[in-house]
Amino acid sequence: MGAWCAGDDEGSPLYDPTTEQLVARASTSGLDIGAAMTYARDVGGPALRAMTFAERGALLAAMSKAIHAKREELIEMGRINAGNTRGDAKFDIDGASGTLMFYAKLGESLGDQRLLMDGEAAKIGGARLVGQHVLAPRPGVAVHINAFNFPAWGLAEKAACAILAGMPVVSKPGTATALMAWGLVQAVVEADVLPPGVLNFVCGSARDLLDHVEWSDVVAFTGGADTADRIRRHPRVMDVQPRLNIEADSLNAALLVPDADDATYDCFIRDLHREMTQKTGQKCTATRRALVPEDMIDEVIEDVGERLQRTVVGDPAADGVRMGPLASASQLASAKEGIAALREEADVVWGEPDGGPLTGVEQGRGYFQTPLLLKARDPDTARAIHDIEVFGPVATLVPYDGTAASATAQIQRGQGGLVASVYGDDRPFLREAIFGLAGWHGRVVVTDGKVADRAMAPGMALPHLLHGGPGRAGGGQELGGLRGLTLYQQRCAIQGNGPLLARLLEG
Ligand code: NAP
Repeated sequence: MGAWCAGDDEGSPLYDPTTEQLVARASTSGLDIGAAMTYARDVGGPALRAMTFAERGALLAAMSKAIHAKREELIEMGRINAGNTRGDAKFDIDGASGTLMFYAKLGESLGDQRLLMDGEAAKIGGARLVGQHVLAPRPGVAVHINAFNFPAWGLAEKAACAILAGMPVVSKPGTATALMAWGLVQAVVEADVLPPGVLNFVCGSARDLLDHVEWSDVVAFTGGADTADRIRRHPRVMDVQPRLNIEADSLNAALLVPDADDATYDCFIRDLHREMTQKTGQKCTATRRALVPEDMIDEVIEDVGERLQRTVVGDPAADGVRMGPLASASQLASAKEGIAALREEADVVWGEPDGGPLTGVEQGRGYFQTPLLLKARDPDTARAIHDIEVFGPVATLVPYDGTAASATAQIQRGQGGLVASVYGDDRPFLREAIFGLAGWHGRVVVTDGKVADRAMAPGMALPHLLHGGPGRAGGGQELGGLRGLTLYQQRCAIQGNGPLLARLLEG
């Protein structure tokens, strides 16, 4: 509502996951969240809808610059409240400013329009009568509920699409790591680059947030499947039916093709290691299952193990540390529980489930899980490896017989995911794998020897490409260039006199 408001109780404690020291508190107690949503709808909404795409894009560019200017402070917040290494914090923060800038440029390229044309006008009768589909901003507020693992990127990627589409935002970060999200919003507020009501921030428990949604709102949620279910079944959500987008769990898979050349094989090893250890494996897109031909398993264990061996785990502030702790005590407890379930049907082939060397950490302190590589004992009967997402530095090798049919059948048992990646040079295999995976995933990454040296690890969500996946992954769709705006837009068919409509819809 155009001002910072403090909660009226002690709130939830936010800890440094390396030292377990208290670093901040977050509270929404006593805040009138319903009034904040009304303010966003009534003040932020009209301001944005009056702007052209180029003007909205300029807001995003200014947000991006404001965040970049506070980069060092935000990196420090990521270290003390999420256990981020410098590299992990940069991945989140630069992902935020980069995505905002991507959508800023998209806005600039759309120019002076306020509505987007959706395809060509259809002739519906005689010479003059036409129907033109347009995409208009929805008149409500975009309610963004984010997961703890990307406090900066999660907020920014959703906000970029909503604001460019013309909808104001109420954003709620995951509480455990909310410090960086708060720092980001502080940076934008201090830079004074947004009209009132466009970006609103609720830091702490969601409390009655969903009790105030209207039909015209969008609720975009990222988090666990159980919370997603609660949101889908929320009485007010069922009653007024806002547009709902869910990004949830995913057991992403990487598939190594038998004939992969050396460059492709090295890329597979490099990516698997990166996906296990970047952000301590706390990425929704991280590889959880790696399908490897039976006769290559030992080689893969040795090569990934060699990289894991070199990955120093410990206090992110200590020299040489490449992987920090999990973000919170509850994340550590949930990872331990998941590891125990995986071990019912998979053996640990690299790592120490209950220990491992830590650098710069006081004995017994911190929410640490060292990397673990497992191998499924009997992939045909295994269930947990396809069902349980251990949100940490853990992946399971799944041996397969070298055929695309059996590898894709195993991957499909994940029941819908964000991303699958395939590493190989055998074209018939790759073709069959793409067909066997595309219907089950939001993104399929194909790496062959010709792109292996510049391929991006599959866990990197790009603003150009869709982020989201079917089934277990929630069925949501975000990003993907202009496609990312459609969640926040109403498609409307405008019917009438063709030449007149063409003039009316200009600008
Ligand atoms: P979470 O516990 O489900 O929480 C997600 C968000 O929902 C948090 O902001 C949380 O607030 C909020 N929330 C909890 N209960 C709510 C309620 N009743 N009404 C409204 N909001 C509520 O998930 P998380 O532990 O933060 O994140 C980890 C999970 O997110 C993993 O499963 C991961 O796969 C998934 N994830 C998916 C994607 C994707 O794009 N598909 C991306 C990142 C993460 P509090 O923090 O205050 O409880």
